[in-house]
Amino acid sequence: MHRRFFAPGALVAASVLLAIPASAASSAPGAPGIGDPYYPAYGNGGYDVSHYDLRLKYQPATDRLEGTATLLARTTQDLSRFNLDFLLDVGEVRVNGAKASFTTSGEHELEITPKTPLAKGSDITVVVRYSGVPSGEQAYGFTSWHRTADGGVAANEPEAAWWWFPSNDHPLDKATYDVSVQVPDGTQAISNGTLQSTSSRLGWTRYNWRSNKPQATYLATLAVGRFDITTGRTESGIPVVNAYSKDLGDNYNAARASIERSGEIADWLAEYFGPYPYNALGGYVPNTATRYALETQTRPFYSPSRFASGTNTYLVVHELAHQWYGDLVSVAGWKDIWINEGFARYSEWLWSEHEGEGTTQEIADYVYASRAADDPFWTVRPGDPGPDNQFHIAVYDRGALALQALRGEIGDEDFFAILKGWTDKYAYGNASVADFQAYAEQVAGQPLAAFFDTWLFQPSKPAAPEAREASIARDSGVPAQPKSWKKIAATSDVHEH
Ligand SMILES: [Zn+2]
Repeated sequence: MHRRFFAPGALVAASVLLAIPASAASSAPGAPGIGDPYYPAYGNGGYDVSHYDLRLKYQPATDRLEGTATLLARTTQDLSRFNLDFLLDVGEVRVNGAKASFTTSGEHELEITPKTPLAKGSDITVVVRYSGVPSGEQAYGFTSWHRTADGGVAANEPEAAWWWFPSNDHPLDKATYDVSVQVPDGTQAISNGTLQSTSSRLGWTRYNWRSNKPQATYLATLAVGRFDITTGRTESGIPVVNAYSKDLGDNYNAARASIERSGEIADWLAEYFGPYPYNALGGYVPNTATRYALETQTRPFYSPSRFASGTNTYLVVHELAHQWYGDLVSVAGWKDIWINEGFARYSEWLWSEHEGEGTTQEIADYVYASRAADDPFWTVRPGDPGPDNQFHIAVYDRGALALQALRGEIGDEDFFAILKGWTDKYAYGNASVADFQAYAEQVAGQPLAAFFDTWLFQPSKPAAPEAREASIARDSGVPAQPKSWKKIAATSDVHEH
């Protein structure tokens, strides 16, 4: 749902338009992409989803997934047809109860032609019946479905939904979710939000999960396998559900000793970012061979290999910081990735200071001094890195450095007011780097265009005088490596295809 663009008059307009059938002349196909220049085919045009109801059945032995997806949406133009993003085999599509014709195109497009054209502003219900073997499907030569010895997992950025449910796959279209999954007894199905209920019948157990706050499609996750599940409640009262594969071997205890601190860390982050925005919290570690972690909403995904060197609370800090920076306030377009990663990285620096392992100033000075001016690191522009560099280390380290510089430029009071005010201003919606600059200027009461240009947009290292002006690297020379550096560095390379 486009929360930012919801106008009070929209409901009235919709009810008027409902009475007027769309004429064939004014109807046109919805665009096959939502308009993101980094990923032109991602998402779709012409409608906005408000809710996904996914009723699934999964057999770990064969990796076969079958299900029915019911999407509640509203049209944003007169539509002769529209697309969903999806890879599995579709058996039937219904729009407002009537069978619709459908075909596939491109890498991941499902084109749906309803029996009659849809008028702009109509509330529509789309039902898709489907089945398939997710591990057998690829798009652009990769998969986001991770087969495990005891099941499978959907988790990736910027795309994971195609392998398990049809969607408008772009962060601009957030929605709420009910995810109901039937798996063989003894196996668990993990997803986002709260576990509403479970029931068993004839050898199968059904898990009913609910996400009652808007959630981007890439932040929806599904993991089926054999897990140990722990539950608890944070000091502030948020219910916690964590899940650990029974097959983590030597990584099991380090994973658990890290993720069991989620409640403590979420409460600590809330002091900087405002109240925790959801009614559920946790993390899960399936037995995948992946290397990254991902901020799947309310319940981040962690790869077992992340814990091979022992506990890493910095990783938990990073993924939980995303619950505000990335999940609560999501990118408007994928070029805005700094809004996610710069802040999640900076949260690790704050945690380092909290743990007495190096201050944010010391880490910033270290990053600035340890990267020579001719290091290609500085050619990456965190404010618009390009799709190939979307998850480049510079988006993280230079991105966090920019925040410490901003803090030096405008002072602690305004800086921390911005960290908290931003998540409130754009809560449950989307925002861009430009929006952040405008908000920072408003709070600080000073123009910051030149500042952001230097730290986020120039393909070069900010010069020493500008750095000193922003209180970065005031002493010359390379400072000692902060104690936390290795743990922070070990939270990098979070994404790979
Ligand atoms: Zn991240």
